[in-house]
Amino acid sequence: VVEVVDLHKSFGSNHVLQGLNATIRQGEVVCVIGPSGSGKSTFLRCINLLEEPTSGSIKVGGDEVTDPDCDIDAIRRNMGMVFQQFNLFPHLSVLDNCTIAQTTVLGRSKDEAQAKARENLEKVGISEKESAFPAQLSGGQQQRVAIARALSMDPKLMLFDEPTSALDPELVGDVLSVMRRLASEGMTMFVVTHEMAFAREVADRVIFMDGGNIVEEGSPEQVIGTPTEERTKVFLQRVL
Ligand code: ATP
Ligand code: MG
Repeated sequence: VVEVVDLHKSFGSNHVLQGLNATIRQGEVVCVIGPSGSGKSTFLRCINLLEEPTSGSIKVGGDEVTDPDCDIDAIRRNMGMVFQQFNLFPHLSVLDNCTIAQTTVLGRSKDEAQAKARENLEKVGISEKESAFPAQLSGGQQQRVAIARALSMDPKLMLFDEPTSALDPELVGDVLSVMRRLASEGMTMFVVTHEMAFAREVADRVIFMDGGNIVEEGSPEQVIGTPTEERTKVFLQRVL
């Protein structure tokens, strides 16, 4: 689904991504771990061109996203994004949050959009809140709405950037179980996370980044269980 070759990104003189190579295959869950400032978010944001790569190639479904002729809106439509901050529209109800892009971007009818939204709100366990406004929900509930909103666009790929790190500890589990379920249903997922237990259990592949490089990559058992690189070991000792 996604193929990244020799991706570099600099902000001024700060060379943040120093030549990344990675593939995300259909149905795969790839978790990215690593210390703060290692470039995880920048990597994820390059995949849907929220950041423009300085050089290198990113192919999504065979299309080169850095090609000026490429229809980036069409590519973004196939990707759902869930951030640390939930970014819901505060003035819209839960249901409207989940329908607005369906009607404006995909041109769905209101009925069709609402049916799709309700199906996904049900899936994330929050149907009873469809008339509530974001401010009336807990962080965990807001994040589940954000996931339902993304899913309502029928994405081929879901990108998550630390979706649980702004949540109170007791709310983290609900969001992770929604993500676990999505993974088990075969959704292709790219997840930046600090949740090692989640990565270990759900990821097909774990990427450890440090200093703008992929230092180590492999199965969770390998990267988290028996890392070979010194930098991975040091990081894991600090977080586990
Ligand atoms: P964290 O775990 O804290 O979220 P991260 O691994 O996601 O960290 P990034 O957010 O990708 O790290 O940041 C990597 C580096 O890029 C940092 O040095 C950061 O200051 C820099 N950076 C990120 N975004 C920008 C930007 N828009 N403008 C300038 N510098 C940026
Ligand atoms: Mg980040």
